[in-house]
Amino acid sequence: HNHIDHATPEKVEAAIAADDTHPVLPSYEDFAAYRDAGGYEALASLRERGDWEEVQERILSSGLRGLGGAGFPSGKKWGFVRANEGPRYLAVNGDEGEPGTFKDRYYLERTPHLFLEGMLIAAWAVEAEKAFIYMRDEYPVVLKILRREIAALEEAGIVAPGYIDLRRGAGAYICGEESAMIESIEGKRGLPRHRPPFVAQVGIFNRPTLVHNVETLYWVAKICREGPECLSATEKNGRKGLRSYSVSGRVKNPGVHLLPAGSTILDIIDAAGGMLEGHVFKAYQPGGPSSGLLPASLDDVPLDFDTLQPHGTFIGSAAVVILSDRDSARDAALNMLRFFEEESCGQCTPCRKGCEKAVKLMEAETWDTDLLEDLCTVMSDASICGLGQAAPNPIRLTIKHFSDELGAVPPSSGYGTEQSLEGGDS
Ligand code: SF4
Repeated sequence: HNHIDHATPEKVEAAIAADDTHPVLPSYEDFAAYRDAGGYEALASLRERGDWEEVQERILSSGLRGLGGAGFPSGKKWGFVRANEGPRYLAVNGDEGEPGTFKDRYYLERTPHLFLEGMLIAAWAVEAEKAFIYMRDEYPVVLKILRREIAALEEAGIVAPGYIDLRRGAGAYICGEESAMIESIEGKRGLPRHRPPFVAQVGIFNRPTLVHNVETLYWVAKICREGPECLSATEKNGRKGLRSYSVSGRVKNPGVHLLPAGSTILDIIDAAGGMLEGHVFKAYQPGGPSSGLLPASLDDVPLDFDTLQPHGTFIGSAAVVILSDRDSARDAALNMLRFFEEESCGQCTPCRKGCEKAVKLMEAETWDTDLLEDLCTVMSDASICGLGQAAPNPIRLTIKHFSDELGAVPPSSGYGTEQSLEGGDS
């Protein structure tokens, strides 16, 4: 938080406007181009004679689920928020802090108005008094694009001046957790809240609040413009819809790859141009560090919401990282826990102290797997929010699948295999 000084908001805005660190904006579809292609017609006709329940039905039939990581059916949220008396608010989670995730940025730097129209449709659906966009400050290009395009929307009379309130995050991973984000929007330190009450009931300034991820709103606009089939028509391995996988690691073409939701890791590696020359596929992170690492042998699992549950993990925001035979799963897991130790908000002991102790245990030459498992149980059972609850995943999955890397003494937790006797030098 050190880089934020105590200048007045006017001074901050002037400094941002004068910032020439990123003078060249990428070529993207601006307001005029979007409107010429029929943009904002869907919003205008809904505002004129739309029935929100009809739109909700379309969203539900498309199968759209929250793409920030939780995967909650998007249309259902609207009903929960509307069930509470107004005034209501809308908050967009653009924090995108999950390491390896960059899909929201990808869409915002190309088609910002699909997101903005989707946001205004959702705001209309719940009759939101105001829409807050909580945007990651590490995305200066996105911030510039949004400032410029929101001004164009105000000038065209599509939104009242000030209706969209663009807020900048300050680099705390925990502010991507929706209740911590709400605290941050209110001007407080970003600490996750206890639930219930849920933010649909008690959100920003204690008002009912609809929270959506950026990409989710991009799809809301697409569904309203093109019909629910733009998602529901794709089917693979028994799964419906599409996923924007953020792919990085040892592949030839890292980047955002839009693929059927039933894609396996082999499909994803294929779409990313295959493994780098000289690298053999060894392991993968399916959805951010909270999802831990799976071995290459689990290469036939569709990477979608729900499908990874039997394997003790989840797809989250679909941040896929590919590891090769040159990488150490054990080092990768330690790196994940160091990240959680750094980013824990410190509010509750199981997470604050648990991450710290886990890092120490994982730095030892040989992992004490029984002690680590005890620690994991306390952390997942007793932490307030998802950070502390899911931080044990990388530990548990590494013990389960990569025991040969954990030191000379075979683990006694029942996960030991022949490989564990070989010692860990890979
Ligand atoms: Fe904060 Fe961790 Fe507790 Fe979440 S689990 S509230 S990040 S200390």
